[in-house]
Amino acid sequence: MNLTIKELSQKLANKELSSKELSQEFLGRIKKFDKQIGSFLTISEDVALEQAKKADERREKGEVLGVLDGIPMAHKDLFCTKGIRTTAASKMLENFIPPHTATIAENLENAGAVMLGKLSMDEFAMGSTNENSAFGVVKNPWDLERIPGGSSGGSAAAVAARLVPYATGSDTGGSIRQPASYCGITGIKPTYGRCSRWGMIAYASSLDQAGVLGLSAEDCALVLSQMVSFDPKDSTSHPQAKEDFSLNLNNSLEGKVIGLPKVYFEGLDNQIAQKIQETAQVFEGLGAKIKEIDLKHNDTAIAAYYLIASAEASSNLARYDGVRYGYRAKEVNNLLELYEKSRREGFGKEVKRRILIGTYALSAGYYDAYYEQARRARRAILNSFKEAFNNCDVILAPTTTSTAYKIGEKIADPKAMYLGDLYTVSSNLAGLPALNFPVGFINNLPIGAQLIAPHFGESLILNFAHKYQQLNDLHKKMPELFV
Ligand code: GLN
Repeated sequence: MNLTIKELSQKLANKELSSKELSQEFLGRIKKFDKQIGSFLTISEDVALEQAKKADERREKGEVLGVLDGIPMAHKDLFCTKGIRTTAASKMLENFIPPHTATIAENLENAGAVMLGKLSMDEFAMGSTNENSAFGVVKNPWDLERIPGGSSGGSAAAVAARLVPYATGSDTGGSIRQPASYCGITGIKPTYGRCSRWGMIAYASSLDQAGVLGLSAEDCALVLSQMVSFDPKDSTSHPQAKEDFSLNLNNSLEGKVIGLPKVYFEGLDNQIAQKIQETAQVFEGLGAKIKEIDLKHNDTAIAAYYLIASAEASSNLARYDGVRYGYRAKEVNNLLELYEKSRREGFGKEVKRRILIGTYALSAGYYDAYYEQARRARRAILNSFKEAFNNCDVILAPTTTSTAYKIGEKIADPKAMYLGDLYTVSSNLAGLPALNFPVGFINNLPIGAQLIAPHFGESLILNFAHKYQQLNDLHKKMPELFV
């Protein structure tokens, strides 16, 4: 089942397969293979087969909703799905059945998506390896001893192992692009404000964006076009959120300027640097021009990101108090004890670390020194991107500092893990769209490159990645264990 959405929808259109058969095929793969990877937290077989049946009925009547109609998929488990358990991979929400569906999930449902289930992640999307899930570590399909990346690790692993044709993800500081790089797939985080955050369990609200992980840029374009919408229920939703991203995929790259930020190559692993240079040359062959650019303030990005993200997390996660919903501790004597014990038992270690950092950074005596400084750094980063885009159309950069590393390798050293986000957090701080696409292998492990565009420039980076993917089949390579 190494087929893109476009190829699968062709099969549905030709009546080679029904949506029910297609869904059963993928459900069969999940049952056969997911024991080895652990990407699914919930399998929603009944819902899927019902949705598939409806898709087949629509097709019979000639009322197909579009290219996604009848195509199976799965959601990262932080998108609320009405009546279906949504955990954010936290013990805190282990038994949470939402009364509502996230806007992006509803949008996809309205486009005919068949939901096979909910995918594992780092708890509340905090992490870079999926080791922070309260329900088990997800394995990288290319090497089961390695991490798939995080926090959308379940999404990336499931797509890479072809357990679903595509999956949703969220990206606060790299959580779509980084696991996509480690798992050899394509993933896009759109401009902040494109996808509604309504019904998406919040981590850091000024940075969180939903997006998609798939096999190709074209697939990502098809899915993202259905996810985006202006949503009055999200106050940061953009009025011009809607766009069909598949329209410009085949545009010529002639004369387009690619910026290579010098700072991103300082200290970068040689083999990765070489892959990025080779990728630049492929674009050059397609008529694009390469230009070295300055990108100032990247040295402050990690610190600013971890301060802002943790500050917002400490405030967002205050709602889990053991009273209204979520985990409630037993055997307590008073209200304060209920709060304390529920939070102590319900949250994992990394989530507690973020809450502590964030609460500290926001406290009266330290606010100016930490949070305010981080906000200034954030503004400076945004300005330096704006300056850079005066000199180029898109930025080509590494996505990750290495290929997927071994499970357990960095978990005891949070700082080392945070530094792995060096190339991804700045686009979140600046709200820019960014995409990862596979550009090769290093020691048999996939590696991706990143394209970053100005605000609302999704169709341009999708255009670049699509053109690249027309020239090679790197995005169609799949891990041997799952053939
Ligand atoms: N690794 C980053 C963090 O732990 C990014 C996570 C994300 O994008 N959700 O915060």
